[in-house]
Amino acid sequence: MKISIATLFDAMFEPFFMTSIMKKANLKNLVQFETINIRDYTKDKHTRVDDYPYGGGAGLVMQVQPIVDMLKAIKTKDSHVILLTPAAPVFNQARARALSKKSHLILICGHYEGVDERVMAYVDEVLSIGDYVLTGGELAAMIVVDSVVRLLDGVLAADSTKEESFENHLLEYPQYTRPETFEGDQVPGVLLSGHHQQIRSWRLKESLRKTLKYRPDLLEKADLDQEAQALLNALLKESED
Ligand code: SAM
Repeated sequence: MKISIATLFDAMFEPFFMTSIMKKANLKNLVQFETINIRDYTKDKHTRVDDYPYGGGAGLVMQVQPIVDMLKAIKTKDSHVILLTPAAPVFNQARARALSKKSHLILICGHYEGVDERVMAYVDEVLSIGDYVLTGGELAAMIVVDSVVRLLDGVLAADSTKEESFENHLLEYPQYTRPETFEGDQVPGVLLSGHHQQIRSWRLKESLRKTLKYRPDLLEKADLDQEAQALLNALLKESED
């Protein structure tokens, strides 16, 4: 996969690409990163990329010309162009999985008051990373890239993303590692039992418990089998008592 980040602040991406899983994926040739500075495409003699909004109002708006010329220069028939903006559907794990199947992602990072609406005609998708406003799209792009790259074949161990939060619309069960006891707080006995069936069932129940507590909205979309439904019913009953 190739990932191109179009930004006015390309220096922000250097440490991100050179750290942890992003670096590992790049060194294994599973992903190729590039940053494109949108300013390189402006036709303004003072290299301006923004201007005042028509109709008045606060702040500056990124102009359409540098962004569209940048896209015309780097886009191929395999490119999938994403504009990061709070005015969009919220990104989630299902979107990350879908994007991990693409061969070339171009992520456009807005700044100031955002981008001229006419850019919309040149993008395939708009994505928000949540219901809050950031200064620029750079952190949003990093979040999208991180969540996509770790899903690429060969980046992580084969089954390590299968049981994570949001798979089947559930939050992940609690995880523990050594020591067995910390300041009197003990790891649940079942995890030390070596009994795989009981461990699986305990994890399913605790995953349901967390989801019910923190994200009950997800349960409406979860495809629960008989066992999971029975465990959920038991948890609901527990919470009534
Ligand atoms: N005036 C815009 C609005 O109210 O929708 C906000 C612009 S914001 C200050 C500047 C840029 O940050 C946006 O163009 C976008 O690229 C990025 N950004 C801010 N919040 C974001 C979010 N929740 N998700 C994705 N991108 C975001």
